Amino acid sequence: MARIEMTTPLVEMDGDEMTRIIWDMIKRELIEPHVDLKTEYYDLGLAHRDETDDAVTVQAAEATKRLGVAVKCATITPNAARVEEYGLKQMWKSPNGTIRAILDGTVFRAPITAEGIEPCVRNWKKPITLARHAYGDVYKNVELAVPGPGTVELVYTGDDGLELRETVFRFEGAGVAQGQHNIDASIESFARSCFEYGLATSQDVWFATKDTISKTYDHRFKDIFQDVFDADYRARFDEAGLEYFYTLIDDAVARVMKAEGGFIWACKNYDGDVMSDMVSSAFGSLAMMTSVLVSPHGYYEYEAAHGTVQRHYYKHLEGQETSTNSVATIFAWTGALAKRGELDGLPELVAFAKRLERATLDTIASGQMTGDLARITTLPNPQVLSTRDFILAIADRL
Ligand code: NAD
Repeated sequence: MARIEMTTPLVEMDGDEMTRIIWDMIKRELIEPHVDLKTEYYDLGLAHRDETDDAVTVQAAEATKRLGVAVKCATITPNAARVEEYGLKQMWKSPNGTIRAILDGTVFRAPITAEGIEPCVRNWKKPITLARHAYGDVYKNVELAVPGPGTVELVYTGDDGLELRETVFRFEGAGVAQGQHNIDASIESFARSCFEYGLATSQDVWFATKDTISKTYDHRFKDIFQDVFDADYRARFDEAGLEYFYTLIDDAVARVMKAEGGFIWACKNYDGDVMSDMVSSAFGSLAMMTSVLVSPHGYYEYEAAHGTVQRHYYKHLEGQETSTNSVATIFAWTGALAKRGELDGLPELVAFAKRLERATLDTIASGQMTGDLARITTLPNPQVLSTRDFILAIADRL
């Protein structure tokens, strides 16, 4: 059978450890037999990042701006132990952080649902996609340990000389204080990414803050979302039969627990940090979670939500059998191929991506799965396959 042709290459960002092993298997066994795969390859493996003084990460992000769609393997974010393990020149920054800073995007994470892997929340029938605003608030705060009686103030000094001043608190004894900030431009680009992704995936968008308590700070988020929606998205949402829905964060949490799923939940930075772990663990496992960075300029970078599965890699190096779940990495590839197909008008490429996803989910539903899923499945007598055999079982079905 003739392989499916591609017209524009994907930006391929290779990575580290067990996910790098899986990466190669997915390409060889699942994609290349069916697709004449075109990629612009960037090796973001830690050794090569070190060799290039991390220039390769920047080049990969720049290539994504040029070509529009990237697929990324999980990568090591070095810490002190990694600097020693790999003999690094320095403790390079997180590649995801570098790429996100260049593409200016929002990360959307969605669970991959399969028959036999049931969410703990019984009424969740469809995935809940979590969008986290990844700038500012408590993550860029300044804090003070207040030693004793005194006054803490917030002071703004404008470049034009304007001064604004608020008393935070008059302390009569020791305590703590904190200053946070955010930027209109960042909130606006977060809102645009959420609305664009809602349209691209035909899902409603929910957003929530605590604006009843935080009447200036959180209220600004609410206003910017509403202004962007009214100006640029209301008509398109109406036309697509979609809804933008704002509520208080406590109300949103209560509604999410009772909802069916099938919407995008946009969260402020801290809410997104906490809620994405709740959503992913309630849906089953980190290894069943996709992640896509959507920039407001229309670039897409697909990856798995998990890391490099270091423990399995060391087992693999010792020659032991591993049973690492490749589903999220497969879905990173299918997400990128389908988006490429959509942008280039190649319906057969989109159809192939859907077929590979179906084959993956059907393999699990048939009882063949990796160890992590076998521990949580509702199917009787699951068959635990090795990393390689699971991918081969999908290839067979495909
Ligand atoms: P991890 O996601 O690799 O593993 C966390 C836990 O989940 C482990 O117990 C692991 O066994 C399990 N797990 C995760 N994915 C799995 C899979 N596909 N199949 C089976 N089990 C799976 O995170 P970690 O151990 O905290 O970090 C390992 C490395 O990954 C670190 O160097 C870290 O910097 C990197 N990391 C990278 C990314 C990324 O590139 N997006 C994200 C997180 C961590």
